[in-house]
Amino acid sequence: MIIVKTREEIEIMRESALVVSKTLGMLASEVKPGVTTLYLDKLAEDFIRAEGAIPGFLGLYDFPNTLCMSPNAQVVHGIPNKTPLKEGDIISIDCGALKNGFYGDHAYTFAVGEIADDVKKLLDVTKQSLYEGIRNFKAGNRVGDVGYAIQKYTEDRGYGVVRELVGHGLGRTMHEDPEMPNYGKRGRGKKFTEGMVVAIEPMTNLGTHKIRQHSDGWTITTLDNKPSAHFEHDVAIVNGKPELLSTFKYVHDALGIVSNEEDEFRQ
Ligand code: MG
Ligand code: MG
Repeated sequence: MIIVKTREEIEIMRESALVVSKTLGMLASEVKPGVTTLYLDKLAEDFIRAEGAIPGFLGLYDFPNTLCMSPNAQVVHGIPNKTPLKEGDIISIDCGALKNGFYGDHAYTFAVGEIADDVKKLLDVTKQSLYEGIRNFKAGNRVGDVGYAIQKYTEDRGYGVVRELVGHGLGRTMHEDPEMPNYGKRGRGKKFTEGMVVAIEPMTNLGTHKIRQHSDGWTITTLDNKPSAHFEHDVAIVNGKPELLSTFKYVHDALGIVSNEEDEFRQ
């Protein structure tokens, strides 16, 4: 069942999303060679609590930490550990926060120092595919329109779209209907209406789209061990159009990136 939100609820959800946006922005300055993902996890937990929110993943389905930290070939759901990041790594940081009864949930994949050109391109294509998806999240469109847009953009450039993990509706629970696959057919699936809020989150592999699950029950890596990237935004339908609730502004500020790519999704 899809739970649509009122304008008031959407504004509350914007606050929850912004807690995560600011957390990712704080982490952006801390991601560097030699730092462990467990250290970053602790920073994030303290930051989220100081914002008057609760880490959204900690304890959810028994996940042990605040952040899902997935380096290199790990796709998503990596558990923070004591292995230091090294120059040339990429690290997907997925973060959730619960504030005023609503969840925020978004993710960014960071470069650790200088990374290879092909990996840089993977990050760029994954991020752009997210905006292709968001552009299609509007009243009257369907779930398949978003999936199609992401898949087409990604596969046209030769990358693999992960099938087994999907975006989702977001609200008083972390995962609501509808499921939002990053692949699909135009005009298929549930129809989008005013007040829907979803997390759109392409997971894109440099090589094969196939993945495997590790014995820890969480970590997922690419089958060919090539890198995988992940970007996620929270989006509402307001006045029939996509309205971004989360923002990469804080990350961009920390990294010195000038970008206007979110402008079209603000009313
Ligand atoms: Mg997430
Ligand atoms: Mg999500």
